[in-house]
Amino acid sequence: MLKLLYNFASDVLALAFPRICPVCGGRVADDFLDAIVCESCRSKLQRALPPHCERCGRPDVVHHAYCCSLMNTGLHFDQARAYCLFEDYARRVVHDMKFNQRRELAEPMAGMMARAWIERLEERRYDCLIPVPLHPSRRHARGYNQSDLLAERLGDMLDMPVDCWNLERRRNTRPQSSLRPQEKVENVRGAFTLDKPERVKGCEMLLIDDIITTGSTANECARVLREAGAVRIDVLTFARTR
Ligand SMILES: [Zn+2]
Ligand SMILES: [Zn+2]
Repeated sequence: MLKLLYNFASDVLALAFPRICPVCGGRVADDFLDAIVCESCRSKLQRALPPHCERCGRPDVVHHAYCCSLMNTGLHFDQARAYCLFEDYARRVVHDMKFNQRRELAEPMAGMMARAWIERLEERRYDCLIPVPLHPSRRHARGYNQSDLLAERLGDMLDMPVDCWNLERRRNTRPQSSLRPQEKVENVRGAFTLDKPERVKGCEMLLIDDIITTGSTANECARVLREAGAVRIDVLTFARTR
């Protein structure tokens, strides 16, 4: 009876206060996790779906279950998955959230990542969600770390703990986007450290970031977690490059 009343009340509320798409200002129709954005915005995002590399999620790796892009440096995470491909519209959303102070986009982006968690990570429960950290100076300049916002929203939605402080970036690396793949690996090597490594021991962790390209940043974070005794490390991002 209570549930019926609740459903009725939320239907009435939905009629009185239609939800507004935070990306375009349009009307949002249904109410699933990734329906925080309107159907039109969602349809402009190209989903990251199989076939892809079982490990790093790189698309179009049809003939090998495991691609080799990170194998020569050692792969430290178990699986990396993303909601969509980093193209056109996704590029704009990520850019707006990161550089145009549009923090409110964390909500719909996390909603879509929750959908990827259901479909691509089989709703696995984690001991902790850990955002990929920014160096304190860059965090200070921007005013926030976009990955913290995504992890916090997602932690709320999935009811899992989030730790934005244990993993730290101690070296201010060059932006990965300007580098070639091998340079990316070297650029982030030794860049991360754990403030309290004992908290990670025996844990299953989910690393959170806005995008994944070669995976070298996530992989370096995973290496540090693995060294401290994490038993499983998956990576979930909003977008990924081809
Ligand atoms: Zn929209
Ligand atoms: Zn791969």
